[in-house]
Amino acid sequence: MNKSKAPLFSVRDFFARFPDDEACLQHIMDVRFGMKHPCRKCLNVSTFHRLSGVRAFACSYCGDHVHPTAGTVFEDTRTPLQSWFYAIYLFVTTRHGVSGKELQRQLGVTYKTAWRMGMKIRELIGSLQDFDMLQGHVELDEAYVGGYRAGKRGRGAAGKTIVMGMKERGGDMRAVVIPNVKKSTLRDVTLRNVEAGSVVSTDELMSYGLLEGDGYVHGSVPHGEKIWSAYDYRTGETHSTNHVESFWKLFKVSVRSTHIHVSAKYMDRYLAEFTFRSNHRVMQNAMFDLIVARV
Ligand SMILES: [Zn+2]
Repeated sequence: MNKSKAPLFSVRDFFARFPDDEACLQHIMDVRFGMKHPCRKCLNVSTFHRLSGVRAFACSYCGDHVHPTAGTVFEDTRTPLQSWFYAIYLFVTTRHGVSGKELQRQLGVTYKTAWRMGMKIRELIGSLQDFDMLQGHVELDEAYVGGYRAGKRGRGAAGKTIVMGMKERGGDMRAVVIPNVKKSTLRDVTLRNVEAGSVVSTDELMSYGLLEGDGYVHGSVPHGEKIWSAYDYRTGETHSTNHVESFWKLFKVSVRSTHIHVSAKYMDRYLAEFTFRSNHRVMQNAMFDLIVARV
């Protein structure tokens, strides 16, 4: 398989699209309002022209001002628009995620500003999450993530957050924080995210048959016995949680190497960031546009 390592949205592409703040402002105007749109004041379908000195455009009929960054994350920031755009670009194209330190270094802003920008971008990404039920064949697997890097491993390690991952084969990955690994909790998360009638693969934590009464075809693979897949004669499907496990593997390595410590408080945002990237990885340009359109 020839998997090209070339970035889909190169740095060169980025600077060609957004050479300066002006180009960024124009882009925000385009995605939020359109250069031709019904004026909110005179109601004419009007064209708008750029005003100098302010981040605004004016209606060609009545002169009403439109401030494309009003009400967005860019509104009250002294950080140049191009820096914001570049930060979003890094989020879209960096597989292991972007730390505050990295943003600080790349953008030349303070750590505090960089950290805030990162959190804001994660929040935007979180607001893009799709809440359609997963279906088809869905793999479920819980993991313990975050905590300090003192080599603590395994289930229930102190300072770690428990998360549940769900991967629709050939479809989306979803991940949520869960309070514990009680059977009732796992079942509840499944009911809220996976369509009844789906085939569900889990490890032995969700004992075989736990979900059968809810209309799922459930197969569990006993990892404790070093068994990683099982053929299901009822459906002809092979149960395994390999896809969701590789997601957790990348997530854990990234958190360890890039973020050092992710507290439970912000875990949702990091999960949103990583699932978003995983679900859109073949379309980095589109990912970028989606995030900017969300500001
Ligand atoms: Zn007007």
